[in-house]
Amino acid sequence: MRRKIVAGNWKMNKSFPDAEELIAEIADKLESMDTGHQDVILCPPYVYLEMATDIAEDSVFSVGAQNMNENDTGAYTGEISGPMLTSMEVEYCIIGHSERRKYYGEDHALLARKLDAALRNGIRPIFCCGEVLPEREAGRHFEVVKKQLEESLFHLTAEQFQQAVIAYEPVWAIGTGVNATPAQAQEMHAYIREQVALKYGESMASETSILYGGSCNASNARELFSRADVDGGLIGGASLKADEFLKIVTSF
Ligand code: PEP
Repeated sequence: MRRKIVAGNWKMNKSFPDAEELIAEIADKLESMDTGHQDVILCPPYVYLEMATDIAEDSVFSVGAQNMNENDTGAYTGEISGPMLTSMEVEYCIIGHSERRKYYGEDHALLARKLDAALRNGIRPIFCCGEVLPEREAGRHFEVVKKQLEESLFHLTAEQFQQAVIAYEPVWAIGTGVNATPAQAQEMHAYIREQVALKYGESMASETSILYGGSCNASNARELFSRADVDGGLIGGASLKADEFLKIVTSF
């Protein structure tokens, strides 16, 4: 049975004391909640990862990074590698977020290398895909997502692929307050699952968690997560407040 997952992507937000307070509050509240059937992942900025994994040791949530370098070591000033993340017990890493694609020029080939780096270091990738508005308006969204999967993800072996989580994040929905409708999300998630089935077989497809991301919040999560192929969410803005985030965690 594939896992239900809610992951919070904090992006470049929060001071250290605020981040520590938020993580401690989430950990505290999670203690009295029944989260047996869903995984909770927090992805704070790099500099808070060690603090987060320390708190996670006594809690049920896991910790993820928001990005990583494709190399394991070397002269790459300012970069963070897979071995560094694993040495801090970071379990997940978001790879291919649209902001990385847009602002840092991360293309399909680079993302494929980042996925390889994550997997060779035992880090589970949360691979983001999704179309921009003009692509949806032109009816090209399926074609765009298919290419993202094929060019960056589908070179993985089945053994590697089973460690991956996919997040469908239509770029026009990220941070805009305009979420995909549950029907639009379901349609694309079913399509992604079909592509996984074609590449890796039905059994792998039915075990792959596919998250929705893009203005998902406490008011719309339940309806989005009620769709058959929506296995949870990758949450940006709404993950920055404990109560809002935890409402989403319990929206299954
Ligand atoms: C994201 O950045 O992954 C995201 C889904 O952001 P938001 O929830 O703020 O739209």
